[in-house]
Amino acid sequence: MKNVIVYVEHRRGETRKVTFEMATEARTLADALGGQAHAVIVGPGATTLAEQVKTYPLNGVYVNDDPDLDTYLLDPAVDYVEAAARAIGPSLILIPNTLSGRDLAGRLAARLGAGIGADVTEFKIENGTVACVSPKMGGALITTCAIKPAEYGIATVRPNAFAAAAGGAGATMQTLEKPSGKPYAAVIEEDVEEGSGELALEEAPVVVAGGRGLGGPEPFDTLLKPLAHALGGAVGASRAAADAGWVPYSLQIGQTGKTVTPNLYIAVGISGAIQHKVGMRSSGAIVAINKDAAAAIAEFSDLLVVGDAFKIVPELTRLVEAAKA
Ligand SMILES: Cc1cc2nc3c(=O)[nH]c(=O)nc-3n(C[C@H](O)[C@H](O)[C@H](O)COP(=O)(O)OP(=O)(O)OC[C@H]3O[C@@H](n4cnc5c(N)ncnc54)[C@H](O)[C@@H]3O)c2cc1C
Repeated sequence: MKNVIVYVEHRRGETRKVTFEMATEARTLADALGGQAHAVIVGPGATTLAEQVKTYPLNGVYVNDDPDLDTYLLDPAVDYVEAAARAIGPSLILIPNTLSGRDLAGRLAARLGAGIGADVTEFKIENGTVACVSPKMGGALITTCAIKPAEYGIATVRPNAFAAAAGGAGATMQTLEKPSGKPYAAVIEEDVEEGSGELALEEAPVVVAGGRGLGGPEPFDTLLKPLAHALGGAVGASRAAADAGWVPYSLQIGQTGKTVTPNLYIAVGISGAIQHKVGMRSSGAIVAINKDAAAAIAEFSDLLVVGDAFKIVPELTRLVEAAKA
């Protein structure tokens, strides 16, 4: 395993910050392994996006604007990444630790007979062996797993875990040949866009999350959204709020929801159940606003503000807006 390949997840040419985090880390890893760093971008918009990805320190960017990526579910992407990996040779393949990224990584691992590290937040390389560091059980346990020496290794990379730093290495752009065709079984029949225009929860630098203490759906719009927007962040929720139908499940944070690692997590009217804690405890600073000083969240918050969210949050938003002005 000498080279590093970054799989660029995107939607019609729009990607997320994790792409640039992986492109930056790929350079460091490739240098340590004595190989090259490449990116693979496939699907409509790939060539346009490649111009942006090329500003990161990669040696090559492999592209194909194949419309099949919009038509079929994942299989064409797996074929393309496999083809790129076989063309580039023994490599560590970095894939974002997102829902479809994890799906793709598993299939690719089976195709390439590769070991896999999941939800990686740090890499260690010793004597050419790649070890993946991943927090488990919401950060209560940190595991370090070496990928078995083999031609290929795969790591799904946690968003926000690595810094992104542009700086070109003069990446060349090459068209990736369409892998010759078997029919694909699963077709995308409908594409539903949720929360378009909002910052992705997993990548937001600030998350303002609400719980049952908000009492209904309206405060998510009238109370939390203005604070999140003022801080340049995104709104999240506890499962109690999602189960009550106040917000979509895509906003749920915790064991059965999303894992977030923002620099600042503000929990509003959330008690801090263990199932919620495992999805946010790796956040930078944790601030809780709760009317109960004895709420469990007090134990793992950096700051607990005791009081009524309906009085505190508007005032906090006003102060943030004033400070920004
Ligand atoms: C298998 C399983 C998986 C689960 N997965 C998840 C998960 O992924 N994510 C998750 O979040 N939960 C999950 N849960 C549920 C979890 O156990 C809790 O029930 C849930 O997190 C509670 O949500 P909450 O904190 O919003 O509500 P509550 O526990 O009811 O807390 C509400 C809080 O709001 C405070 N409050 C009330 N009014 C105000 C006010 N005006 N101002 C300020 N504070 C106020 C209260 O003091 C209280 O602390 C799971 C449970 C199980 C069994």
